[in-house]
Amino acid sequence: MDTLTAAERSERMKLIKSRDTRPELMLRRLVRGLGHRCKTNRRDVIGSPDIAFIRRKRAIFVHGCFWHRHSCPAGIRIPKSRKAFWRDKFSKNVRRDRSVLKTLRRLGWKTLVVWECELRNAEKVKNKVGKFLHA
Ligand SMILES: [Zn+2]
Repeated sequence: MDTLTAAERSERMKLIKSRDTRPELMLRRLVRGLGHRCKTNRRDVIGSPDIAFIRRKRAIFVHGCFWHRHSCPAGIRIPKSRKAFWRDKFSKNVRRDRSVLKTLRRLGWKTLVVWECELRNAEKVKNKVGKFLHA
């Protein structure tokens, strides 16, 4: 049963919307907190990674579980209507992701994908990113 008033519902929708960019912001804060200076949203790097270390050729992507098809519950969910549309969309996203990572690696970049759901555990992500940057 839906017990929300219209105003409450609109508040909640706003919250959901403003969450769209949150994973990227969280990761940036986290990387800066590790004491690294990084460039964000570099359109001049293939795939426009969320975070790039140009000189050290390292790129970090934050992937939304739903759009980029993580193996977690959010990433295996397929909307009930227009299934064919969604399957096609998802497979294009996954193909593009793979090809971006492959191209970057071929050009000598090291890449890291951080999944949206992983950001729930900031410590774990910090370790992962720290290892990646020092490897
Ligand atoms: Zn996930």
